[in-house]
Amino acid sequence: MATSSDCLFCTIVAGDIPNDTVYETDTVLAFRDITPRANSHVLVIPKSHEDTLGQMADDDPTSVAELFTAAREVARREGIEETGYRVVSNVGADAGQEVFHVHVHVLGAQKLGPVGPGQR
Ligand code: AMP
Ligand code: ZN
Repeated sequence: MATSSDCLFCTIVAGDIPNDTVYETDTVLAFRDITPRANSHVLVIPKSHEDTLGQMADDDPTSVAELFTAAREVARREGIEETGYRVVSNVGADAGQEVFHVHVHVLGAQKLGPVGPGQR
């Protein structure tokens, strides 16, 4: 599995930083965002390191699909599959990506505003 020693999320996958796990498979980890921006805010990451979703789409499209399948399972466990939720990934600087290990945000348990420049 690809890891990066200076990557925060690789450190979480290794178990060296605690996390609030919501769901886990052999290849994916989902845990609560430390700064939640919705009543339910969970990050879904591949255990194997890739910098961005765009790069992962080229390198390993099957793993991209796994992220979205896991996002649905997270929504189910959070009880928001029926009420609705948002899956979003920041790719690169203009989107405000802070952690360069692929992740999708799963947001819900409240009404969400429209997607746009101010939405994180
Ligand atoms: P992004 O801006 O899309 O790169 O999102 C990175 C997310 O990681 C932000 O929403 C942070 O709040 C979140 N985050 C940073 N450190 C941690 C941590 N140790 N545990 C959980 N979430 C974190
Ligand atoms: Zn990483």
